[in-house]
Amino acid sequence: MNTDRPIKICVIGGGFGGLYTALYFSRFDLVKNRKCQVTLIEPNDHFLFTPLLYELLTGELQRWEIAPSYSKLLQGTQIQLRQQTVKTIDLKARCVGLMNDETLSYDYLVLAVGTQNRWANIPGLKDYALTFRSLADLERLQTQLHILENSERQHLKVAVIGGGPNGVELSCKIADRLGSRGQVYLIERGDALLKNFSKAIGKASYKALKARRIAIHHDCDVEKITADSLRITEQQQAQDLPIDLVIWTAGTQSREWLSELDCQQTDQGKLLVHPTLQLLDYPEVLALGDIAQMASTRQNIPATAQAAFQQASCAAKNLKAMIKRNRPKPFFYLHLGDMLTLGKRSAIISSFSINIDGRIADISRRFIYILRLPTQRHKTQVLKHWVKNTLIKLGRWLRWQKQQLFAEKPAKPY
Ligand SMILES: Cc1cc2nc3c(=O)[nH]c(=O)nc-3n(C[C@H](O)[C@H](O)[C@H](O)COP(=O)(O)OP(=O)(O)OC[C@H]3O[C@@H](n4cnc5c(N)ncnc54)[C@H](O)[C@@H]3O)c2cc1C
Repeated sequence: MNTDRPIKICVIGGGFGGLYTALYFSRFDLVKNRKCQVTLIEPNDHFLFTPLLYELLTGELQRWEIAPSYSKLLQGTQIQLRQQTVKTIDLKARCVGLMNDETLSYDYLVLAVGTQNRWANIPGLKDYALTFRSLADLERLQTQLHILENSERQHLKVAVIGGGPNGVELSCKIADRLGSRGQVYLIERGDALLKNFSKAIGKASYKALKARRIAIHHDCDVEKITADSLRITEQQQAQDLPIDLVIWTAGTQSREWLSELDCQQTDQGKLLVHPTLQLLDYPEVLALGDIAQMASTRQNIPATAQAAFQQASCAAKNLKAMIKRNRPKPFFYLHLGDMLTLGKRSAIISSFSINIDGRIADISRRFIYILRLPTQRHKTQVLKHWVKNTLIKLGRWLRWQKQQLFAEKPAKPY
């Protein structure tokens, strides 16, 4: 490798895997003394902290808190942002083709482009169902909910398809937003919700769904969707549910263009990697996050932000090791637990057999996620805003308590 010019590191995807790898790596002297040049390629102008996306629906959080712009996040770092979409990668020639037909060469590549929505073959699904994975999805859903809320209709019926965490969390938030006017249906093909989660998470989730009168349909197939109805089959009985809004949360899949990469993949299109996160036949390429699967270990690494976040620091350290001609180290996933938001100001946390739910879990979850936000500056801004808001609310509550106390006091006898 020519050492006169900076070593070119290309990171594709500015999500949990890519952005955090770039930020972590940019702290090393290799970048500070300009021996390495890091380029982050990402089509969007903002990062999205997906676990907190639900809170925008209920106004518990503001957009700037969970979707800061890359220009703000990368300020003061030496990471160059290319707001572009990658359309091809020539792994042999070590170059990346962008949508604008430009080509970038690299010495090391980090691939973390995440997954995309998977549509099932259900008539009407693509035409009438919304999804919930991005800010654009959120905006579409906000608009539809706003139209319904401002309509003359007395009862607003929303169906959420998919009984995974996304479906459960979304159902609870929508039910809380619509209040007594809303009826949410949660539809799951399998025989239970949240199949891969602990008993405590399952129990708290069912309790939260029931408290919000959410109609849970297990073992239920969606046959057809129209502009105002949903045909479902349950216990071999078909029925049409009148519905105002349908949201599809049932599944993700690999991005199509990845299947054209000349590297080993699973049948589902995940890129096979060594425990060090290096692609099987290309040691200079690291793949992580939702698109990667370990080829030779028994580690069951979930497709979650938690896993991608942990992999990012390993990827950055391994890049440094490779550049310094040291041996990259294997990644070990540590499952720290699960956290789900279960409606407005309520959550469940299950970690190392300790379970907490309700308001305390909500506050703890929020705090833990603030600590996971990218960059110290952004974390501090969000934390300050949260503390200020909490103090204002506490002040209002104390004033209200004081008023109640005096209101209840019997009048002084003269
Ligand atoms: C609503 C929602 C809630 C979630 N809640 C949780 C949770 O509570 N806990 C948890 O652990 N996980 C959660 N997840 C899952 C988590 O978001 C993903 O597992 C995680 O984001 C995966 O990280 P990644 O880096 O692989 O992909 P992503 O974070 O999805 O990042 C991929 C990036 O690549 C970019 N990209 C895509 N194609 C291209 C291209 N061609 N060229 C350049 N860039 C490209 C995308 O724009 C994106 O920014 C949630 C997901 C969603 C949608």
